[in-house]
Amino acid sequence: MRRVLVTGGASGIGAATVRRFQEDGCRVAALDVDEAALGACSADVKMVCDVADEQSVQSAVERAVTELGGVDVVVAAAGIASRGSVMDCTPAEFGRVMSVNVRGVYLTCRATLPHLRAAGGGAVVVVASQLGLVAVADAAAYCASKGAVINLTRAMALDHGPEGIRVNCVCPGPTETPLVERFFADTADPTATRQAFEAAGVIGRLIEPAEIAEAIHYLASERAKATIGAALVVDAGYSVR
Ligand code: NAD
Repeated sequence: MRRVLVTGGASGIGAATVRRFQEDGCRVAALDVDEAALGACSADVKMVCDVADEQSVQSAVERAVTELGGVDVVVAAAGIASRGSVMDCTPAEFGRVMSVNVRGVYLTCRATLPHLRAAGGGAVVVVASQLGLVAVADAAAYCASKGAVINLTRAMALDHGPEGIRVNCVCPGPTETPLVERFFADTADPTATRQAFEAAGVIGRLIEPAEIAEAIHYLASERAKATIGAALVVDAGYSVR
């Protein structure tokens, strides 16, 4: 039975990932800053944690790994969206986005890699974005943060692959989660923005969180044992136009 730790596990893609691994009989810990959402999620172990805060991550990971009895798979899904060009995005907002989306992945991996080593190896899956590979107007900080975690994934894959820890990332396109709903709501015409994102892929709808969870589950599985440092794009064709 594999032991799985998911940051951002209380909502959206993270919550779907918790459920996907539980379907296999895995024991899953969710770490999330949203205590109320955490209370409602299906995870076996739940820890309040701010991934941008070193002490918070260290302590939540230690407690979660103790309760799980070790860890074999780490999914770094916690993240936030942000709108605005460089001129519109304040330095504080830019720092907040980088703290959660980039530093959060770094701190999560830094705290969990010793436990994966102790387990004799394992898998890390980072949730990046298709907006780390291509850009969209009016989301400069978010695009920058997701580009950074894709290359952080590659760097970690090289550093830790030799010790049996496979590191990959998934690049979702627009996925039906509270994050994307808030992103739409923040635009001048949320309905038009939603329709534009639905039309941007080739399936005419937003992606389901379970469809991203399936890709994460695959990357963490033995079936992907030769897949190392990959950025698996699951964006319904958004970025191939
Ligand atoms: P979501 O808002 O439904 O879930 C994100 C979770 O992360 C929430 O439970 C939230 O409380 C948690 N979180 C936020 N800041 C945190 C922090 N500092 N510490 C701990 N937890 C924190 O959003 P989602 O769409 O499921 O997003 C999950 C990941 O997928 C994010 O990294 C996001 O950038 C990425 N992503 C989403 C989409 C999309 O269209 N929804 C597309 C590409 C990538």
